[in-house]
Amino acid sequence: MSSVPPGAGWPGDPATAETPVARTPAQVRRLARGVPLAEVDARVSVCRACPRLVRWREEVAATKRAAFAHETYWGRPVPGWGAAEPRILVVGLAPAAHGANRTGRIFTGDRSGDWLFASLHRVGLANQATSVRADDGLALVDTRVVATVRCAPPANKPSVEERATCAPWIEAEVGLVTEHVRVVVALGAYGWDAALRTYAALGWTVARPRPRFGHGAEATLVSGDRSVTLLGCYHPSQQNTFTGTLTEEMIDDVLGRAAAIGHP
Ligand code: SF4
Repeated sequence: MSSVPPGAGWPGDPATAETPVARTPAQVRRLARGVPLAEVDARVSVCRACPRLVRWREEVAATKRAAFAHETYWGRPVPGWGAAEPRILVVGLAPAAHGANRTGRIFTGDRSGDWLFASLHRVGLANQATSVRADDGLALVDTRVVATVRCAPPANKPSVEERATCAPWIEAEVGLVTEHVRVVVALGAYGWDAALRTYAALGWTVARPRPRFGHGAEATLVSGDRSVTLLGCYHPSQQNTFTGTLTEEMIDDVLGRAAAIGHP
């Protein structure tokens, strides 16, 4: 078992040795409440509330993939990353075992991230097209990327219980940035459901019948006199990009639309 100790100098590590650690679902709910965004990032990054996922992320970090055998893996939950006051929020599923679980930054170091960040760059929402490690100089423009479940799950499949245990983290994070967000891009049906569920938990009104996910699908979420546009985008997984289900033009269309809404 292996993971980077909090505060050990990993680039972008939001935590210190003193950051409180959630070990149960109740502790996640308690620790996610009433703290600023930077502290949410710190607390989520040391969370240990899902025994199966903690075991898996640390086992992967210890055994590694042969291509990365010389690297130290992050092996911890992956916090949201990007602008602290985002106008555009991108919601994904969970860190990849040898991607963000290795590099410590969301979508960084795997093929899905290559696609996502290259497209964000093409539509003007990232300063560079590549994303290889936490200190590679990548910066997002008014955009924040978050995972629904913050630990790498076996076979990319978190359980319903794990998703529920992790929900307070994304709810806290979205609650803290919601005054700035104009548009949410949901990657895949999982991200779509998570975005709807999170905004509903924060008291926003979601249309009935519930809007259905599709590539290019668009829905409006409302809270009082405020509204946010939800956009659906096929997940840039290798399954989708290898088969041509998702092309560069398709992802650019959705992220370009998000950029236009976020920067009217
Ligand atoms: S999935 Fe979420 S709640 Fe579970 S251990 Fe990871 S960060 Fe904590």
